[in-house]
Amino acid sequence: MFERLLFGTAGVPNSTVKKSNPVEGVKRIHELGLDCMQLEFAHGVRMKEEVSSALRKVSYELGIPLTSHGPYYINLNAREQDKIDSSVERIIQTAKISDLCGAESMTFHAAFYMKDSPYDVFDLVEKSMNVIEERLSRLDIEIELRPELTGKSSQFGSLEELISLTKSVNSCKPCMDFSHLYARSGQYNTYEEFVEVLKVLKQELGAKALKQMHIHISGISSNSKGDLKHLNLDQSDFNWKDLLRALKDEDCRGYIICNSPNLEKDAVKMKEYYMSLQ
Ligand SMILES: [Zn+2]
Repeated sequence: MFERLLFGTAGVPNSTVKKSNPVEGVKRIHELGLDCMQLEFAHGVRMKEEVSSALRKVSYELGIPLTSHGPYYINLNAREQDKIDSSVERIIQTAKISDLCGAESMTFHAAFYMKDSPYDVFDLVEKSMNVIEERLSRLDIEIELRPELTGKSSQFGSLEELISLTKSVNSCKPCMDFSHLYARSGQYNTYEEFVEVLKVLKQELGAKALKQMHIHISGISSNSKGDLKHLNLDQSDFNWKDLLRALKDEDCRGYIICNSPNLEKDAVKMKEYYMSLQ
């Protein structure tokens, strides 16, 4: 369904005149020659119905598909049951609005380990994901649920965890944040390592996993405490060029969302480099 990789920004481009208006954001994406845009619900899922229907319309008319990112305060491993319940609700809310806007893929940070065993956390996340999947199917909402590959060692969302979750929950797929993978592991910053990750995805999840990807890329810095900061590509040693080469060589397709602070500048830079590759 994708002919190549599509490039877009995490949220409305900075150069949009009305930065608070996502419809204007989609128009700006089109003007910039970019391909897609991610709706950021990082600080809450609030959107008027007329905005979501206008988004669906402009996205269709301009041929700019949308993805979305759920709120930050989600923790499917929270101590209190009511916090787990409200995390489930936030994911469902994000899915509902994303669906109204016509987005087909949504990502979110699923949980924190809270010093629990990763195996126990996995079981809890899996249980909630099954509940979410069932509720969405009763609402007749079809959307890819993509827990993000997270950048901090305190967060659920390693490559292995996302692969296992994808195998056990139907509508789950990984959101491959390669900058986070690098920050999290201190590895995966060479052409050979990028190809290795893509081969693992293909082997574990099938060839289709590379044909419908949802990827995040930005510059990044991290320290041993696992603090991380998103940077512009040229301020970081993240090897985005070799990543794009590996993605191209393995014929990967889908969305690449840029979440560098300069958003569209790096998105355009990545798209230009990708399109120049033979
Ligand atoms: Zn994220």
